[in-house]
Amino acid sequence: MNINEITDFNPEKIIKRDEINRYYRDGHDFIDDAFISRTLEEAKEPDPTKIRDILAKSLAIETLLPEETAALLQVTDPALKAEMTETAGRIKHKVYDNRIVTFAPMYISSYCVNRCRYCGFSADNPHQRRRCLSMDEIKAEAEAMTGVHGHKRVMAVYGEHPMTGAKFIADSLAAIYSVSVKTRHGTSNVRRINVNAAPLSIDDLKIVHEAGIGTFQVFQETYNHKTYAQMHPANTVKGDYGWRITCMHRAFDAGIDDVGLGVLFGLQPDWRFEVMGMLVHARELERYSGIGPHTFSVPRMHAASGSAVSQEKNSFSDDDFLHAVTVLRLSVPYTGLIVTARETAELRDKCIDLGITQMDASTRIDIGGYSQRNTVQKIDEQQFMLGDPRSLEQMIGDLARRGIITSFCTAGYRCGRTGGCIMDALKTGREGTFCKINAVLTFREWLDDFASPETLKLCEPVINSELKAIQETYPKFYPNVLDRYNRICSGERDLYF
Ligand code: SAM
Ligand code: SF4
Repeated sequence: MNINEITDFNPEKIIKRDEINRYYRDGHDFIDDAFISRTLEEAKEPDPTKIRDILAKSLAIETLLPEETAALLQVTDPALKAEMTETAGRIKHKVYDNRIVTFAPMYISSYCVNRCRYCGFSADNPHQRRRCLSMDEIKAEAEAMTGVHGHKRVMAVYGEHPMTGAKFIADSLAAIYSVSVKTRHGTSNVRRINVNAAPLSIDDLKIVHEAGIGTFQVFQETYNHKTYAQMHPANTVKGDYGWRITCMHRAFDAGIDDVGLGVLFGLQPDWRFEVMGMLVHARELERYSGIGPHTFSVPRMHAASGSAVSQEKNSFSDDDFLHAVTVLRLSVPYTGLIVTARETAELRDKCIDLGITQMDASTRIDIGGYSQRNTVQKIDEQQFMLGDPRSLEQMIGDLARRGIITSFCTAGYRCGRTGGCIMDALKTGREGTFCKINAVLTFREWLDDFASPETLKLCEPVINSELKAIQETYPKFYPNVLDRYNRICSGERDLYF
């Protein structure tokens, strides 16, 4: 497709006004900038006793109120901050134990009708060498991701373009799911695909839902209306704040009950505003559907082709980033937290103790990068530059050294443990039982199929200690677990509870 066809695109062909307005109250969306700014202002210099009360509420796995999150965001005292990070770690352990779930993004198309000022895929960027994968190329990517690296969870990522609408997304998911690769001792395949795409209409969301998605992820980028308008030109689809902020309401109405929120840190000078925005969004979804977000993502802006904004130095420091992650963990304790390979290995590893739950690895974000076995990043062939080049095997080894098990579990959505069901299970700690067992079963598969002798040596003590913990905690159920574990050792695959 010729790139000129993109710039003539009419946003009104996509945006359905009635599918925005029905979610507004008194003609407004639910993000009240003045309220957020005022709440942050009033929370300055918080009383330590009040902070400790808030931490107790977080530990009880309750979603915080905006004024409580604002107070945590305004803590500057190092000792109090240390108490916050310690509590965030305890919550992570309580809800998600010592697991990190792993996945990898599959970038499917870099064609985009939008002109986001921070993104290499912007239609305004003539330097980007654009590609949209064919169904055969998508299968080749899936083969490499699952056959070479051993991934079972994929995040499919698309620019916004008529070429890659809902039908294309559904077909691409079917192409990925159709791939199965023979491994050393069994087979490997992608078992859960999350989607990061543009906001869709309810009818289009139904098409994507029926194709079998895990999480539907759309980042608001910035919750601040003014910054949003500065970053997204008005005559584009993405320039419509209302279409984006209401997309998760539409997702719920289309039957998708597993959604992921995020912001792009670095766009809005006041990063605290963005954390507040995510909290308010989570609370609004809880109000609307009874189900909060499944994940928060905290991407930070990195250098992108053709984007001056992305290459300017911004004031959002590593310390701010760690504070933001801590406050999110404390504010919505049951929600998964994703820190991607945009960040360096060092910073990501620091985030683990603060409560992150998902990390990608062996990450390629150039279109077709896995099957082409590219190892060098080229700024004009990808959306932005990555900071953590670790392979999945390296990351698994690093985690194992810290006693952390890497999980490839995809059982949740295939067993119907999604939406309200998983929220309740996470809040009460019940989901932990299934997750712990499924982490062991899927980790065993990966170790047998993909680990080198050195990695095996690092990981066997971790898996053995997990098995022992399961035996001690669930003695009656343990024989069932052991039966499936042994069947996996004999080459059976994809056994889960
Ligand atoms: N086109 C869809 C959209 O915008 O919603 C799909 C997402 S885009 C391919 C994935 C995400 O990458 C965006 O939502 C944005 O947060 C992030 N992103 C864009 N430019 C970035 C940059 N320069 N550095 C880091 N992340 C960036
Ligand atoms: Fe397109 Fe998404 Fe990039 Fe914006 S962030 S230019 S919508 S791919």
